[in-house]
Amino acid sequence: MNETYDVVVVGAGTAGSYAAYLMARQGLKVALVERKRAEEVFKVTGDAIGEHHIKRLEASGLSINNKVFMIRYSGAELYSPDLSVRYFVAGRGYGLDIGEWAQWLISEANNSGVDVLDRHTVTVPILEGGFVKGVKANRGDGTQVELRAKVTVDASGATGVVRTKLPPQYRISEPLLPEDASYAYREVIEVDYAIANPQNIRIYLSNVISPGGYWWFFPKSDKTVNIGLGIWGKLVKETGLNPRSNYDKYLAKSEHARGRRVLHAGGGIVPTRRPLPSLVGPGIVAVGDAAVTVNPVHGGGIGPALLSSELASKAIIEALERGDVSERGLWRYNTDYLRAYGIKQAQLDVFRLMLQTLSDDQLNRGLRARILTEEEVLEISEKGDLNLSGLRKLTIALRLLKVPDVARKLSLALRYMNEVKGIYLNYPQDPGNLDNWLVSLVAKYNEYRLKLKLPPQSI
Ligand SMILES: Cc1cc2nc3c(=O)[nH]c(=O)nc-3n(C[C@H](O)[C@H](O)[C@H](O)COP(=O)(O)OP(=O)(O)OC[C@H]3O[C@@H](n4cnc5c(N)ncnc54)[C@H](O)[C@@H]3O)c2cc1C
Repeated sequence: MNETYDVVVVGAGTAGSYAAYLMARQGLKVALVERKRAEEVFKVTGDAIGEHHIKRLEASGLSINNKVFMIRYSGAELYSPDLSVRYFVAGRGYGLDIGEWAQWLISEANNSGVDVLDRHTVTVPILEGGFVKGVKANRGDGTQVELRAKVTVDASGATGVVRTKLPPQYRISEPLLPEDASYAYREVIEVDYAIANPQNIRIYLSNVISPGGYWWFFPKSDKTVNIGLGIWGKLVKETGLNPRSNYDKYLAKSEHARGRRVLHAGGGIVPTRRPLPSLVGPGIVAVGDAAVTVNPVHGGGIGPALLSSELASKAIIEALERGDVSERGLWRYNTDYLRAYGIKQAQLDVFRLMLQTLSDDQLNRGLRARILTEEEVLEISEKGDLNLSGLRKLTIALRLLKVPDVARKLSLALRYMNEVKGIYLNYPQDPGNLDNWLVSLVAKYNEYRLKLKLPPQSI
């Protein structure tokens, strides 16, 4: 049976289910294709989400099933590697029951008229006349099917199974490199002590436990916690480090996990990079992890997945109304995304690269000098930007004198965050100028990478 749809969405995670729901609600004929059984869709994450993302979701008209929330958070504690410095960054959020979350989103898609095709593993895009015309999939019963559509949405997570199979001249196909990802492992465990302040999530910087990343302790109640770590993919590839081994070595038997009873264990890859050069191609768009929309500094990707799906859905609906699903016809998604979040994401990526070159000693001294206030840490990790008054700049400059090596790196990052922002503000308004723009962006990044003693990247 070969079906034709307005839109085929590949992957029933947060991004795919939400995009499918939004488009079906507007009357489009949508298929949501998922390799797992629908009731088994479950993503391994830290399960934490900022309240502003939930508010945005509610504003779209969805009424959220309260079963998805396990705990309310009121802030994050950030620790230096030697634990001598603790920052508290206020900010509301939730600890999700990620299984309930996935099931709720799929059921909303289902109820709005989406054809949920589970146990369908998408293998390749159907490429005809330069346009993506749908996908081929293997069904659970061993048969194959072609699912044809005017627009295909790649929401298949970090592997990007559809977009990465397109030829390189489609800029949406740019592969995710290990050095632009974090390799993570986490467990949800029950402990035998009462967790203090379970309303605070905790983030620990340590190049011993989680080189180039961080390890986390996100309570789910006063007895249960999501605890895990991420390692910079570059180091995983170059040195053979493994997040699971580090977890077993440093966290599983630590005081934090005392009396550990494992409720769920698993790992995954978190994309931590600037946006793809283009989130669209002829007849195709990418959303969520498939479009690498994760915050490159803290790895939060559930909120950006929702945002990208919302913006992509708008662009697709409009393109279908105009009868133009070419790259140009879908281009608006690129410019909307960059305006809403993508430029910040690129700036955060610049900051991320600098952080990954700091030693534990530099992190300890930098945090001890309290160069930035707790609010400024929040601002920089969320917005990728820092607006400082003249007086604050002076105070910071004086504090930086105490840690000149860290100061040099911080000011280098701030300078390039600004320069990269300038390039993104000139992002082309149509696909014709993309290649030239990309040359200037990659040249700027390579200039910065050289200063951080990182090898250049090619286009
Ligand atoms: C260990 C870890 C901890 C994290 N912690 C947090 C956190 O605390 N907070 C936060 O906001 N973010 C966190 N993230 C990131 C966050 O989980 C992701 O950014 C987000 O879930 C992405 O959603 P998605 O829908 O884009 O992708 P996914 O949730 O990965 O969904 C992709 C879907 O596509 C399906 N699929 C894949 N291939 C195929 C195929 N060939 N055919 C059909 N279907 C296919 C998959 O089965 C899956 O259901 C974490 C990630 C990891 C790995």
